[in-house]
Amino acid sequence: MSTIIKREEQFCAHNYHPLPVVLVKGEGALVWDENGREYIDMMSAYSAVSHGHRHPKIVKALETQLSRLAIVSRSYYTDVLADFLEYACKLFAYDRGLPMNTGAEAVETALKLARKWGYKVKKVPADKAEIIACRNNFHGRTIAIVGMSTEDQYRDGFGPFPAGFNMVPYGDVEALDKAITPNTVAFIVEPIQGEAGIMLPPEGYLKQCAELCKRHNVLLIADEIQTGLGRTGKRLACDHEGVRPDLVVLGKALGGGVLPISLVLADDAIMSVLHPGDHGSTFGGYALAAAVGLAALKTVEEEKLAERAEVLGERLMKGLKAISHPAIRDIRGKGLMIGIEIDPKIIHGHDLAEKFLQHGILTKETHHVVMRLAPPLVISEALIDKAIEVVKQVFSEI
Ligand SMILES: *Cc1c(COP(=O)(O)O)cnc(C)c1O
Repeated sequence: MSTIIKREEQFCAHNYHPLPVVLVKGEGALVWDENGREYIDMMSAYSAVSHGHRHPKIVKALETQLSRLAIVSRSYYTDVLADFLEYACKLFAYDRGLPMNTGAEAVETALKLARKWGYKVKKVPADKAEIIACRNNFHGRTIAIVGMSTEDQYRDGFGPFPAGFNMVPYGDVEALDKAITPNTVAFIVEPIQGEAGIMLPPEGYLKQCAELCKRHNVLLIADEIQTGLGRTGKRLACDHEGVRPDLVVLGKALGGGVLPISLVLADDAIMSVLHPGDHGSTFGGYALAAAVGLAALKTVEEEKLAERAEVLGERLMKGLKAISHPAIRDIRGKGLMIGIEIDPKIIHGHDLAEKFLQHGILTKETHHVVMRLAPPLVISEALIDKAIEVVKQVFSEI
């Protein structure tokens, strides 16, 4: 075993179980290990590297800003935050943005906004606000967020959890209708459930949820941290159904593959419930992040990354569907967010991910049974084709 792996295992908390490879360099859709071996990155850090590794425009924005000013806190104005937020607000057609760093923080921000809006605008009685989430969701790892998780391992040992969260099955509009009460302030949903195993809801689900929320004066919060910014073939996954959520949560790809940057977008009617001191983050919206976030958004548009994801996603899906093997139960997804569901009785997800690694492809299983194939959106057709060949090869050896 690499001595680097041994040292990380010794000194790092064991909250992950990484594949046995030490990566030292990345460029576009490729990464290299400590021995100079090349891999196709079919994970893109769960969409954080949608732009590819070290995209030149993003590296340039980072370096230019770094040579001027990096962090001053929101106690002062900087000459870059307005540029970033004006661009984001105009692109997505919302009045305001609230910048944070990680996805979990932005989700917490959206939940806090929804609760405060519930008390101040909807006039829900004090401490009675209810938020509805979906079973098998993934929205992050804070105590409040794992409190609304249905995954035993994410919750075990971390209680007690905040009250006021109710669960409904994903994809079930009727269940949502039944769960809404006069005290419901928000419904939070992923347009496609990523961590649950690339689960797509029935067609029309988001649209029906949006109508239901509107009818009951309930805010629709779309967690687009993984699905947003082109990943599924549209700028936002909600665009597939023409749905405009009340709050949009962005993260991952917003950092352009170089920084953690997240953002909540909403109109004044919601955002105006916050006053100075109500909520914040030392790093949220720092100058370096603002410059990188702006470059990340501009690059998605300039390089038509959503269109790329749509076209290349179809190519990848077609290639994968041509592979037939008893271990493959289902292949599903949208754009460049694709999952192969396998039969764990034939091969375990972790073993399959190791096999892919040995054949030069980085991927990872979720819930032992779904392999993710979600490369950077800048990946070439040639590398997509090569990845399909490798997948075919790997299954032929099982
Ligand atoms: C990754 C993810 C999060 C959490 O983001 P972090 O940056 O890891 O805190 C939340 N929601 C969804 C849908 C995600 O994929």
